[in-house]
Formats: sequence, structure tokens, C-alpha cells
Amino acid sequence: MPYYHKMAKPQIAQTNKYNVFRCLVREGPINRAAIARLTDLSIPSVMAIINNFLKKRVVRSVGKGESSGGKPPEMLEIVPDCFFYIGVDVGRTTIRVVANNMKSEQIAHINEPTGVPFPEKRFVGRLCGLITGIARQLNAGADRILGAGIAMPGLIEKETGKVLFSPDFGWSDVPLKEWLQELLPFPVFVENANRALALNEAYSPDEENHTSFTVNLGYGIGAGLVIGEELYIGASGTSGEIGHITVVKNGPVCQCGNRGCLEAVASGEAIARQARELVRQGGAAKIAALCGGNGHGIDARLVFQAAAGGDEGAARIIDRAAEYIGIGLAMAVNVLDPDRVVLCGGLMKNGGDFFEKICAALQKHKMRQSSRQMVVTAGKGGEYSTANGACRVLGSNLWWERALPI
Ligand SMILES: [Zn+2]
Repeated sequence: MPYYHKMAKPQIAQTNKYNVFRCLVREGPINRAAIARLTDLSIPSVMAIINNFLKKRVVRSVGKGESSGGKPPEMLEIVPDCFFYIGVDVGRTTIRVVANNMKSEQIAHINEPTGVPFPEKRFVGRLCGLITGIARQLNAGADRILGAGIAMPGLIEKETGKVLFSPDFGWSDVPLKEWLQELLPFPVFVENANRALALNEAYSPDEENHTSFTVNLGYGIGAGLVIGEELYIGASGTSGEIGHITVVKNGPVCQCGNRGCLEAVASGEAIARQARELVRQGGAAKIAALCGGNGHGIDARLVFQAAAGGDEGAARIIDRAAEYIGIGLAMAVNVLDPDRVVLCGGLMKNGGDFFEKICAALQKHKMRQSSRQMVVTAGKGGEYSTANGACRVLGSNLWWERALPI
């Protein structure tokens, strides 16, 4: 049955304005006729909107473009610092906040240890403090901040921005968006952190319509699927939970309550747990030496370090994790047939041949005929990839949230 989206007049005007704005951000420098073509608007409508943007100093002229017969058209681009996005990566160990301009350039950033996320309301108050802190650094009024995007690990209810369940944080039913929105004068949007990361890593203007599957290998394991420029969310918003597919029947208990999940045997937390167990049993002398006998001090980074130093027990833990990750990826690749698989996250920062081992396991376990053109790469977005992704999520969702303040 055809579906017609009916909008009231002010809504249509607002949507047209937003489409022209997005077009300038994505395609600029661009001329008026090209904007009209891409947005399906009439030239007079585009001219009226652009005149308003010029008056408000949101757009500027950058000279003449190439003529297609008549007189050369005036080329326009967005004024980069006319507006800002704030992106927050709420990681289990570190909170990273960025402020990006309309050209996705980072203008400011703040990092600080996550600490104890309880009581939840006080933690959210702290997040609010960080967001207003970075907003102050911008020296811009609240009307020039288009919104704050929050990338949060766990299951997020899309419509309400509520954190339904976050095993990393031990949170259930926390109305994160509602609480932040009560405190902040600009729109707030909450997205799953792995999906925000996936959106940032998939972004490549030269590769339209690519399908990329980005996996975050860190304290936990999650993933996001991006088709073209769109995040795939799923019917109930829980897509991408590759960390919770079963790879070991009757394996260790996972934070989700099941047994033998990929995350329970191959995440940073699982690697550290296995090493602690090994040290307790008197094995893995190098790990024991590195942590100075303090088993609580063992994290995944230390296990990688011990393996690189020739500790066989540590090497076995790492090899097994790489094998399981390869098995999990093979399942996803067989089902999704992506153009590209991107591997990101803390575990990828430990050097060695972890990446190669995962690739080898993936090749071994996937169906030989599937995804023959597929490329597997390491993520390129760096430390702020998830926070930048939170800004991108805002860019694609904001127009439902609030009228553009121009
Ligand atoms: Zn699980």
C-alpha cells in the first residue's frame, strides 16, 4: 500500500530549508541549479532559501564555477563555523567529548576517565557538565549548537533515547535522553556506540551504496551495519549484537545471561579474565611478573604485552580470541555479504599480528564462495571515531528533532 507522508506547511518549509542546508554541507561548493536538481526543489525556492542563508551568514560565495553554456554560476559553500555538533563517546573506561563544525573539523575535545557510573542520575549530570563545558569553549550561543549526540554502549530505544540495558555500565531503563534534554538547551540524540562508530568508519564520499560492517573489539564486542549512508537499525533496534552470538556451546556465562557468547570468550574483558584465571593457577609467569603479582591489575593490553614477550599462556589466550572472532565474523559475512569489514576498538591497538590472525580465521570459517570481493581493513577513525560518529548520527537525525535555528 502506498505511504504518503503528509506535512503541514511550516513543516514543508522547514524540511526544504534543511535539505538545502544538508546539500550545502555534503556537496559544497555547489551552485544553485545543482542544489535544485539534487533536492527536487524549484530554482526560485532554492534562491529564496539561499538568500536567507546569505543574510544570516550561514553560506558564503566562493567565486564562479564552470559555465555550462551561459554565464558562469556562483559557487556557494557553508560557513564552517556557523554551527557545531557535539558528540559524546561514553566508553566504559574513558568519556570523550568533541565539538565539530559543519565541515566535520574538530574544534575542541575533552577526555576524562569514566569512573563509577552510579547513581545514574548523578553520572548523567556529569555528562551534562562536560557538554556545557565544551560548548563554553566554542564561544558560541546555544542557538549555534545544533545538538549533542550521545554514543552509549548497550540497547537504546530509538524513539525515546532510553538505555534499555547496558551490561558494560550495569544500567537498566535509564531515560538518558530525557534527563539530558531537561538540562540542555539544544536537542539531544542517543545512539548505540557501535553504530555511531560504524557510521563514522563507513563514511566515504567516493564509495556510494557500499555495505560496510564495522566491528568494535574492545571491553565488549559489538558491530554496526551501514548500507550506503544509512545505519541499519533493525525492527526493534537491536541489530549488530555480534558479541552475543554463541560460539561455544555451554561456554562461560555472558553479561547478557546466555552462555558461550563471542563477547564472553574473546572481548578485552574475557581476555583479561582468562589471564587472571591462568595466573591464579600458577601459569603465565610473564603476565604475573608484569602485573606485579596483583591479579586485579591484569587487563587485555597486559596480556598482549606478555604474549609479545614470549609468554605461551598469554599467546594461547590471544590466539583463541582471534579464532573465535574469526568464527563470529564468518557467520556475519555469510549472512550479510558486505563490501567491507572494518575492525576497530581497543584490542586492535595492541599491535602484533592479531589483525592477521582474525583475517585468517575469517577466511577459514566463512563459506568459500561468499563475499569474494570483500575487503577487511583496520579502522582509520582513531581515538575520536565514535564521538565523531555521534556527530554524524545527529546530522542524519536532527531534522525531526527541531527546526533549524535560521
Ligand atoms: Zn552474551
